[in-house]
Amino acid sequence: MDEAAGSGGDDMILAHLDRLRAADLPVHGGRTMAYVYDAGLAGLDELAARAHAAFAGVNGLDMTAFPSVVALENDIVGQAARLLGGGPGTAGTFTSGGTESCLLAVLTARGHAARTRGVDAPEIVLAQTAHPAFHKAAALFGLTPVTVPVDPATFRPDPADVAAAIGPRTALVVGSAPSYAHGVIDPVEQIAAAAAERGVLCHVDACIGGWYLGHRRLADGISAPPPFDLAVPGVTSLSVDLHKYGYTPKGASVLLFRDAELRRHGWFAHRSWPGYPVVNATLQGTKSAGPLAAAWAVLQKVGTAGYVELARRVHEATGALVEGIGRIDGLRVLGRPDASLVAVAADGEGLDPFVVADEMRLRGWYLQPQPAYGPSPANLHLTVTAAVADPARIAELLTELAAAVARARTLGPATPDPAIAQAAATLDPATLTPEEVAFALEVAGVAADGVLPLRMAPVLAVLQALPAPLTERLLPEVISRLYAL
Ligand SMILES: *Cc1c(COP(=O)(O)O)cnc(C)c1O
Repeated sequence: MDEAAGSGGDDMILAHLDRLRAADLPVHGGRTMAYVYDAGLAGLDELAARAHAAFAGVNGLDMTAFPSVVALENDIVGQAARLLGGGPGTAGTFTSGGTESCLLAVLTARGHAARTRGVDAPEIVLAQTAHPAFHKAAALFGLTPVTVPVDPATFRPDPADVAAAIGPRTALVVGSAPSYAHGVIDPVEQIAAAAAERGVLCHVDACIGGWYLGHRRLADGISAPPPFDLAVPGVTSLSVDLHKYGYTPKGASVLLFRDAELRRHGWFAHRSWPGYPVVNATLQGTKSAGPLAAAWAVLQKVGTAGYVELARRVHEATGALVEGIGRIDGLRVLGRPDASLVAVAADGEGLDPFVVADEMRLRGWYLQPQPAYGPSPANLHLTVTAAVADPARIAELLTELAAAVARARTLGPATPDPAIAQAAATLDPATLTPEEVAFALEVAGVAADGVLPLRMAPVLAVLQALPAPLTERLLPEVISRLYAL
């Protein structure tokens, strides 16, 4: 809308933003079952928006110039520490999200291993179900991932395999509580004990589940999850996102450390330049205090009792959903979800979960496709948040899902031409020419402008048929086309 630049009234400008938003998935209402977290509480968004606006211009780069940032961070980190097994010495950092918390946990462990154990070619031990943020950290900070397989029925690593993967170069061992893909909690007690025995740090990735599980275990009458937090001996750091089950606006996560002495290994200080002296506790420089203030406001408003109640509703809804899916012929839940995330696969032949996802999308529901990997078959990921946790809404979801399954059976699976996999086997992702990339994307059904078709099952079928390194070469090309001017 360049032509309006400088001349558009506020209403015109905002109307343009509204029009752009119309093409997005809805962020409220509970039908978008990934990416968004809706408490379903009246007035919460408005409060968060006002707090955000009041602090949008405050710069967390210099906490001595803006002491409000320190006060808010200490408050939030203290709440997280009390909820998740922290003790008197616990330290923490407020970050922009789960990825930044995980990156900092790895960076800290790398620094700690180098300075205290002289490790110069560090490794990170993690299950194949660990979040990509740890692989991103390994790639950015020069660690080698040592990946441990998971059981095909429980989707958890065997603690003996984790222990066997720990070596003299291991800087960090990671456990998930729970994992994103299957929503199961790794055997944190045994993993942390194995790490501690070797004098190695252990991080618990409770990014998605920490706030929910921490409050759920405060609810009467719900059996407690297995121990997963900082109270477990050997756990040295833990990440928990507020912009997930804290239902705060995006840009809010907490990274907790056993103590401040460990935390300092991830900090960066610099005064060898002619400008202001720098101390960065995170990866960012200038950072808005908007998300911090908004998170603080939401935490104040909902309060512990409020989060316990939201967790209870989510727990009941997840149980009803898992039970209901079990009654739909042709679907099965992978593993036994420990939290509020459910992975649904096809049970038997003839049903393509990604066609089910397309059918659900046409019915106004977004279920997230998870392509087959290792022992995990193609499946759909459902994040249950408070907005969907209403018996009527769950019943509606199950009815729609049954209808989508019936329709997907009639349509049949999206199966890629076997020639595609054969042709792909001859391609070396490291040496692909631009022409080969263009050809591969055309075959996969991706348009020249990068805009994806409404029905994604055929594209996902091709993606699943290609080796992971090839898709890791091709997918950025798809996105790159979107960002072409
Ligand atoms: C969401 C998530 C992350 C990464 O968090 P972002 O907020 O998306 O950056 C890390 N680990 C797990 C288990 C997650 O679910």
